[in-house]
Amino acid sequence: MVTANWAGNVVFSSREVHRPGSVTQLQELVAASDKVRALGSGHSFSRIADTEGEHVTLAGLPPVIEIDAASSTARVSAGLRYGEFTGRLHEAGFALPNLGSLPHIVAAGACATGTHGSGQHNGALATAVSAVELVGADGELRTVRRGDPEFPGSVVALGALGIVTTLTLDLRPTFGIRQWIYEGLALEDAEEALAGGYSVSLFTHWAGAGFEQVWLKQLDTDPEPPVRWLGATRAPAQVHMVPGIDPQHCTPQLGEPGPWHERLPHFRLAFTPSSGDELQSEYFVPRAALGDALRAVDAVRDKITPVLQVSEIRTVAADELWLSPAQGRDTAVLHFTWVPDTEAALPAVAALETALAEFDARPHWGKVFGTAPATVASLWPHLADFAALTLKHDPEGKFRNAMLETYLPR
Ligand SMILES: Cc1cc2nc3c(=O)[nH]c(=O)nc-3n(C[C@H](O)[C@H](O)[C@H](O)COP(=O)(O)OP(=O)(O)OC[C@H]3O[C@@H](n4cnc5c(N)ncnc54)[C@H](O)[C@@H]3O)c2cc1C
Repeated sequence: MVTANWAGNVVFSSREVHRPGSVTQLQELVAASDKVRALGSGHSFSRIADTEGEHVTLAGLPPVIEIDAASSTARVSAGLRYGEFTGRLHEAGFALPNLGSLPHIVAAGACATGTHGSGQHNGALATAVSAVELVGADGELRTVRRGDPEFPGSVVALGALGIVTTLTLDLRPTFGIRQWIYEGLALEDAEEALAGGYSVSLFTHWAGAGFEQVWLKQLDTDPEPPVRWLGATRAPAQVHMVPGIDPQHCTPQLGEPGPWHERLPHFRLAFTPSSGDELQSEYFVPRAALGDALRAVDAVRDKITPVLQVSEIRTVAADELWLSPAQGRDTAVLHFTWVPDTEAALPAVAALETALAEFDARPHWGKVFGTAPATVASLWPHLADFAALTLKHDPEGKFRNAMLETYLPR
């Protein structure tokens, strides 16, 4: 029985958690239920996965990993964690363009919230989706494909259109990545550093000047970067982004080449994050505003550092998925890992949101935020289209929850 999310900051209100063993059982369950929502791996920090009705986990469905080499696509069970199928894609000679920091996250849950990795040219994980198969409010199974007018609203859909059973993903030929960590980057060199590799993350504690670490993930076919780069120095040993935590939990660094799925996430699949001693918030700003946004955060550092574990800056390419935080704009993402104390973290969250308001900062749907509903409504141009889509496919509000009522009224 699942009663709380991974971080423990959300105690679920659901009456029951069902674990159907077949898609037919899932369809019967959805058809018979008055309120139901899918639960992924529970890694969201917001109440987005919650319901007062019934929860469904897809962990009991027979796993599907169908690779179609001719079309370079894979149809995978929506309830699989990325780490459960990315190795199979690699063995078949294929890859996904990008991954989030943790391979333990379920594909449908990640895509439903606009989860992303980093890279100037890499879209959010949902941009790899070309078809979504889902059980709708009537219990019927339907497929929405790229090209369908409803597709842009059906991928990053916050679980509001039904229970997704499979995702079809675009693949590219497999590739190798080498990961290098640099220490000591100036704040004003952020943009250049973020453009300096296939996937780049900047880490800071907002306690000194600039960034303590740069995680540079480069294609293994690219030339080895210099030992000193943009004034930063290459770390001589494996590191963790939070001081004092065992760096062996992190994917191999020091330029050791490895396949994409073992280097793009920051953390190893074999490392099991048992419970989350942390909270997270994240804000998406237009990439052109990154320098000003960093200076705005720097100006409120006194308000955030007492509750901050670490902050990470990444980039995401623009997409056209209606609810994606990168919708319509090349994006820079400012992430904050807080101590696991909601009451203590919320004033810092509020200070950040005030500082970032002028940059039209969109919050991550799956993380802690306090952005006012009216502000959220002004940040995404397609919220009304999405509301109309949910009204069409879920007129009785079977998949609605309190968070959707607050931020996506209809
Ligand atoms: C340690 C850690 C690292 C993280 N790293 C990143 C990162 O690098 N980048 C980033 O952007 N985010 C990151 N996140 C946030 C995380 O990716 C998102 O919160 C994501 O939604 C979690 O997926 P989940 O499967 O746990 O979903 P849940 O939290 O279980 O659910 C999220 C939403 O997905 C819906 N959903 C789940 N399964 C289905 C389904 N089958 N059909 C329909 N809807 C479904 C749920 O109803 C809910 O609305 C991280 C979180 C943690 C705890």
